[in-house]
Parts: sequence; C-alpha cells; structure tokens
Amino acid sequence: MAHAIQTRSKLPLTAAGMTEPPAPGEFIEAAPGVLWMRFPLPFQLDHVNVYLIEDGDGFALLDTGIGNDATKEIWESAFANALKGIRLTRLIVSHHHPDHMGLAGWMCEKFDIPVHMTLAEFLTGKYLCSGPYADKGHFYSDFYRLHGTTEDQAEAVSGRGLAYLKIVTGLPDSFNSLDPARGLVLGGRRFEVLTGGGHSVDQAMLYCREEKLFLACDQIIERISPNVSVHAMEPNADPLGTFIRSLTDIKGVVAEDALTLSGHRLPIAAPHKRADELIEHHHQRCDQVMEIVGAGTKTAAEITPVLFRRELDAHQFSFAFSEALAHLNLLVEQGRLTWEEENGVQRVRAA
Ligand SMILES: [Zn+2]
Repeated sequence: MAHAIQTRSKLPLTAAGMTEPPAPGEFIEAAPGVLWMRFPLPFQLDHVNVYLIEDGDGFALLDTGIGNDATKEIWESAFANALKGIRLTRLIVSHHHPDHMGLAGWMCEKFDIPVHMTLAEFLTGKYLCSGPYADKGHFYSDFYRLHGTTEDQAEAVSGRGLAYLKIVTGLPDSFNSLDPARGLVLGGRRFEVLTGGGHSVDQAMLYCREEKLFLACDQIIERISPNVSVHAMEPNADPLGTFIRSLTDIKGVVAEDALTLSGHRLPIAAPHKRADELIEHHHQRCDQVMEIVGAGTKTAAEITPVLFRRELDAHQFSFAFSEALAHLNLLVEQGRLTWEEENGVQRVRAA
C-alpha cells in the first residue's frame, strides 16, 4: 500500500532482538507494518506503549498515551518527523484508563477519525469523563474508611474523580464497537477481537491468527503484573476471578509462541508461559492473604502494607489497597473468607 512510511513486507515475527524500547517520537517496526512507539508517564510505571497498524493507505492507531502536554508535544514532533506524511485511518482504544485513552478526544478531533472501543469501555470512559464524583469526594473516601484506612489515607483519595478529568481529553459522542463476534479487518489483516475484564471492565485485544501476532494491551505484560482493582463504583466486584478466567481464555485462542505486544514493557515471546506466571502469582497472593488473616480478623487496609512491603506513596497506596481488596473479594467469592462488620468497618475472617 502506498503511504509515507516504507514498511517491510516480511519481518521475522519474534520478540528476540526487541530488547530496547523505541526512543520518544521514534518507532520500531515490531511486526510487518506494525509500528511500536513509547510515551512517558508521570507515575512510577513511567511509560506506555502504543502501536500503529498498517490500514490501507494509512495506519490505525492503537491507544494514545496519557492526556497531557508532554505527550501532545511528542506526538506533534513525531508527525513532523518519524511519522511525517502518514494518514491516520482510525483510533482503537484498548481500555478507558488515562494512559491509553488520554488523548482520544484530541486525536479524533485533530485527524477527524472514528474511535473503536468495546461498548463497556466506551460507556465507562464517557461516564468518568462526565465527572460523576467531581463534587463528592466522600464517595471515594467513605469506601476507604469502610475498609479501615486512616483518615489521611481516606482524604488522599477524595480528589480521585477530578484527577481522571485532568489527564483525559474526552471521547467522541459516537463510536464503533469492537465486538468478538465481528472481528476487525485492518489493511490486509483479519484480527480476531478478544475482550477480557479484571484489569479494566472489558479490555479489547487483537489477534491475527495467520501471523500469530497478538496485541495483548494491558492483559498480559512482561515482568509486571497488571493492576487488578476493586473500586468504589462496584465494591463487591470480583475482578481477580474475572482476570484469571480471561488469562485462561486467552490461552485457548492465542498460540503459545505468538509474538505478543503489550501496553507496557517489552514484547513477549511466550504468552502462555507469562499468563501462567500471572495466574500463579495471584494464587500465591491469595495464600499469603489467608496466612495474614490467620485465626483473627483483618481489614483491607491492614492487609495492604503486609502484602505490598515496599514504601507506598498516596497514589501507590490506593493501587495497592484496591488490589488487596480484589484478593479479598475473590477469597470471599470462593468461600475461603467471610466479611463481618464492626463499628462501621469491614473485616475478613477465615470461613
Ligand atoms: Zn496501562
């Protein structure tokens, strides 16, 4: 296809050799016609990967980076240099988290392109962009107090509803649904659409069976375990159970040696092995929680620092707390723990 970037028609589809990420504003052709770019993030996890996938005479963009000025500047510079002359055909957003969806509104308007998302991710993104809790921080802080945090920890999260709005640029009012029943054709490739919960509500992944090429987004990541969290919006959710089922489902579809490109870190050569490691990690965490609870009772806030032994700032504490709670909700779902309430605080006890 004729476009400004000379892509190679054949590349060995392997993660070997991709041991260094692309520099900001540059790309690495990770698979034929699949350009891997990386953007900085202002968090401890300091980067996010996005991909441009050849789509006729242009490229479909998978994820945008976070919605801040630094990311916009890198995009502007990339479009003036490494990506000069290319046309974006559409935006695919894997999930509504700000590091992936942050510049969706900006991109769709700037390039007049449609967005493709799963229905659940689109509606969740739209919902959060409407600022539902902007004027009632106690919605978050009450949830923390219920699980035994200190007043300081509870207060630290009361601005969370506003924090999201500061690092996203909204979504268009209409969208195209990413639907596993329909798949997605990009250029000469037919992708199967896989969806899975746990890390987000219904994250989209793309798999090209003929080429054994898997865009796993944040569901399977090299070396780090994707955050799995219970939030105030759905306090009794079981995202960890959902996440483990999703990893098992992925193994049923994706080849064990598929080249796997993720939303963070480096490409993966053996996605089944990585999925098994993630499942095993969470099983070990569940056993650890059972040990911490022992014969007594514990709150989620008491379990968090024992489960996550490193020093946690307020932002990291909220992730760790929500992930500890995900383990508690799964153990309650499995009948290994039960909830009891004491003085307005929820505690778990071995069943
Ligand atoms: Zn992410």
